[in-house]
Amino acid sequence: MVAENYRAVEERIRLACARSGRDPEDVTLIAVSKTKPVEMIREAMEAGARVFGENKVQELCDKYEQLPGDLHWHLIGHLQRNKVKYIVDKAELIHSVDSLRLAEEISREAVKKGVEVRILIEVNVAQEESKFGVTVEEAPELVRQIAVLPQVHVEGLMTIAPYVDDPEENRPIFRALKKLAVDIKTKNIDNVHMDVLSMGMTGDYEVAVEEGATLVRVGTGIFGERNYAI
Ligand SMILES: *Cc1c(COP(=O)(O)O)cnc(C)c1O
Repeated sequence: MVAENYRAVEERIRLACARSGRDPEDVTLIAVSKTKPVEMIREAMEAGARVFGENKVQELCDKYEQLPGDLHWHLIGHLQRNKVKYIVDKAELIHSVDSLRLAEEISREAVKKGVEVRILIEVNVAQEESKFGVTVEEAPELVRQIAVLPQVHVEGLMTIAPYVDDPEENRPIFRALKKLAVDIKTKNIDNVHMDVLSMGMTGDYEVAVEEGATLVRVGTGIFGERNYAI
């Protein structure tokens, strides 16, 4: 079932690309495997999945150890500063940087471990109380401050859109994140790229692709509903 789901999501991404005149090569599907066992990750791998997203440091590290080394792991959830040291050499991209203090800690650990760390700035475009992330207004200054830190590289932006019944409701959110990335790019800040846009989840990834997402984070649509009780 997981393999079929994965292929179906890929197909829908291709269709969304076709509708919006985009190259499917420019969109990467991240299979969000949080709370799901490694057996299910292996099923997704049968369908070709190689990029996985986790929102907890411990869970990412556990799965990283258990699975083949050719997989790519993305940390998509909130990151606490005291967990940074476990993740800098395992996560290919950290999606959830929303403060200078966190970026400074990432930089410190990157230098210590001799690695380069790629990050995204999490932007709370919808300004939901419950969400992490900086505001659209705060983002450019934070990017500027992080740009000078050693061995950490801002590659783009990430947002978590609200849960909605009609994905069209989130189109303005995705459009706003894209616009923000373009605005920051025009500032030509050294060591800053704005080529990665992480946006779109199970309920709205097709709209996100139409609006320029380069990474979509799909969990439920691939692995089924999550059960947090177990
Ligand atoms: C869980 C999670 C997802 C995947 O959500 P689904 O609705 O199951 O696709 C995407 N992004 C983040 C940051 C998440 O925590």
